[in-house]
Amino acid sequence: VTRYAPSPTGYMHIGNFFQMFISYNLAKNTNGVFIRRLEDTDRKREKEGAFEVIEMVMDKFGIYPDEYETLNGEIKGDYGPYIQTERLDIYHSFAKHLVSIGKAFPCFCKAFENKEEILKDRETKFLDNDATEYDACRNLSFDEVKEHIDNGEKFAIRLKTSGDGIKRVTFTDLIKGEITANANAKDVILVKSDGIPPYTFCHIIDDKLMGVTTVVRGEEYISSTPVHLEIIDALGFDRFKYCHNPLICKIPENGNKRKISKRYDPEADMRYYFENGYPIESVLEYLLNLISSSFEEWRRNNPELSWKEFKFGINDITAVSPIFDLVKLNDISKNIISKMTAEEVYEKALDWANEF
Ligand code: GLU
Repeated sequence: VTRYAPSPTGYMHIGNFFQMFISYNLAKNTNGVFIRRLEDTDRKREKEGAFEVIEMVMDKFGIYPDEYETLNGEIKGDYGPYIQTERLDIYHSFAKHLVSIGKAFPCFCKAFENKEEILKDRETKFLDNDATEYDACRNLSFDEVKEHIDNGEKFAIRLKTSGDGIKRVTFTDLIKGEITANANAKDVILVKSDGIPPYTFCHIIDDKLMGVTTVVRGEEYISSTPVHLEIIDALGFDRFKYCHNPLICKIPENGNKRKISKRYDPEADMRYYFENGYPIESVLEYLLNLISSSFEEWRRNNPELSWKEFKFGINDITAVSPIFDLVKLNDISKNIISKMTAEEVYEKALDWANEF
């Protein structure tokens, strides 16, 4: 069971689509289940219309999740709702549970009101000699907590980390192998004082309740994984399997390898491919090329089969960042268009002209 868990903070990026496509294929290739869940609790960063674009892009590419919820309320799957802001009660129950077993605490500091402050590592705090700065609430007695609440003060719920800045944590990533990193040492926010939890907390509860077995996402999340693991352990859940994939990069002329970015690369926005009339199969086939080095040979040996027949597993996924190259994509498109009938080319060109 894999998932794609976008936050609607921008128009769908090809890097995001790439991770989604890997997650989808891993489920399909193993007779599994692929879930789409909307992670919309960060309202400040939300971009209007972003989720509509994700729905539209996935539809046009024919990537249909087995379980999902659309913005107009259609739900498929037994583990919904699949939109996080519709699941707040669930997160609150788990937050209360953590408080009751002493693994989280209510924090009345104004500094945390409605925001996810960047918390200093406990170690840094000790070094800076300000260990008490945000620790005041950590050690409040039950009666003191009660007094604050009776006064009507707002509070956030924060994790009571057991990290001390020295502890390490080890986990296995199916792509990168064993990873050892500094364990979390921050009393991160689990629920903000407005009652809204950040994805850090929600995604763990959702992945557990939705039966996700393998968390497939981009490698930019490796650095947050120690926090996630501490929350998972605190909740007493079994850890998930992780598959952190490399990110698509570009090598600009006279430049160094960097992540493909909407700021510099128009092709980073998935809408580019519709606007420029690419057949959807070329984009998908090109991405399969980037995902696995064995696709090209498979395609050569199976010129007539649909890309859907190409089965790959986690071990086939490239471990190094693939380089995006429009020339190669254009070449694939040329081949695909050359195999279409004249009628098909006419129909598709007409549809494209009508829309754009
Ligand atoms: N909702 C997160 C994001 O799109 C993804 C978290 C995850 O995949 O675990 O930034």
